[in-house]
Amino acid sequence: MSYRPKKSWSSRRLTTDQPDCNVSMALNLFFAKDNETWVRNGGPWPGCEDIKLTDFIRLAAKTLGLFSLKLPEDDRDLDALITDMMDEGPEEPEGILAIIHTAGWAFAELRERLKAFEDTGLTPDDFAAAKEALDREGHCPVCGAEIEYGGDQEIVDDGTVVSFSCPKCGAHGKAGYDLVFDAYYDVKKGDRS
Ligand SMILES: [Zn+2]
Repeated sequence: MSYRPKKSWSSRRLTTDQPDCNVSMALNLFFAKDNETWVRNGGPWPGCEDIKLTDFIRLAAKTLGLFSLKLPEDDRDLDALITDMMDEGPEEPEGILAIIHTAGWAFAELRERLKAFEDTGLTPDDFAAAKEALDREGHCPVCGAEIEYGGDQEIVDDGTVVSFSCPKCGAHGKAGYDLVFDAYYDVKKGDRS
């Protein structure tokens, strides 16, 4: 299936640990678990269990007949070696293996980032609105609720600082205001008496 980007934001999430169709399976093929990249159902027939990407690469090397290729037992060493093999390009089996490996871990990395985003249940528009609310004066910078001011006031350099607290989430701190000249008031001639 070729890639056809969707124009509108779909409410159906893309990341899942229970893919229910071919597209969903493809979108969740590589995933992260215990700081490792895994290939969903990528293990050997008939079990077709989930398999670590490094073990998948070891199996693939055998399938491609790369018996002279000494793949390290240690996963980190294998990752480093495979990265170097990227230089071989698509004309060598080692290069193809390296591209699959790179696509796998990079895909898992992007999927985890998207998953964290989708776990919030918010759309990009929701995020934009929330961010705007967070930056508004009088609203909690943590949850966006209306804040309460402590009533104290401290003059600093060119401004003033007042303490605030959020009745909703309990966040508290200080809000700073710049002092802006307005006008002179109550001007009287002569010495102050
Ligand atoms: Zn709050």
